[in-house]
Amino acid sequence: MALLPQIDNLEIFRPKMDTIRDRLHAIATFSADISPVFPYLNAELGGWEYDQQHQTLMLKLSDGKWITLHAHQIAFRGMKDMEETHALVKWITDQINDTYERREQITPRYTSQAGLKVIEILRNLPMTNCKACGYATCMAFATALREGETTPQACPPLWEEKYQAKREKLLAYLAEFGWRPLDYEV
Ligand code: SF4
Repeated sequence: MALLPQIDNLEIFRPKMDTIRDRLHAIATFSADISPVFPYLNAELGGWEYDQQHQTLMLKLSDGKWITLHAHQIAFRGMKDMEETHALVKWITDQINDTYERREQITPRYTSQAGLKVIEILRNLPMTNCKACGYATCMAFATALREGETTPQACPPLWEEKYQAKREKLLAYLAEFGWRPLDYEV
């Protein structure tokens, strides 16, 4: 049986705040408890923040969209229209059920991307401020990388042989926190 067989209620609304009122928010509620899937979903999707104590998992998607999962509720924000909202609800429902079904093949993860420190990322960049990545400084690149807005591949010098040790450390550090870029679309 699916962990989340059905959404009992879906409320879609426009937030009142001026800055984001052109985007939709939504709240899905259900009687099922989906928290058992969180560490597996965090491993599979690269959660932005996983709070094990309060059983919440936040996923940061591209284009300013967020999904926050609680045991009996999922909050969505930043969708451009109803069609995208319904597609996102279906996508996360499928992810929950599929991931839970495959949980025995997945190593659960309890760390999350929010734990990444910009300074640790910076330490493993070439630190030449050469701008080849399109950012003014390595610090600006490190900050964007933590957010998933760019990738290690966008720093050409990092892939030179002389920076191999830094590159390997950086990739291992990112992997430890389940880092992923924001470029995948639902
Ligand atoms: S390309 Fe790499 S070394 Fe150059 S500024 Fe960007 S992050 Fe720094």
